[in-house]
Amino acid sequence: MAGFGYLRYQIDIAIPYLDKNQKLPPEFTNLRTAIETNIKTLKGFGGKINEGLSNEESTIIASYHVCKHDTGKPCTNHTEI
Ligand SMILES: [Zn+2]
Repeated sequence: MAGFGYLRYQIDIAIPYLDKNQKLPPEFTNLRTAIETNIKTLKGFGGKINEGLSNEESTIIASYHVCKHDTGKPCTNHTEI
């Protein structure tokens, strides 16, 4: 399907750890599971923009990683959802 545009989500949200053991807010645990489950479902609806053309865009991407920008240390690799 092409020629009608796309509803395109672009999300970048960093959840701060509560301590050095990478503890997340307890109330976030169930939400995280629901978010990741729904993102997987959402990816099933996704389509690449200009698929097969030289200007193809990768538009079915969702990942998370442990970000260390606040410490100056390297981030972990991205884990695909
Ligand atoms: Zn990072």
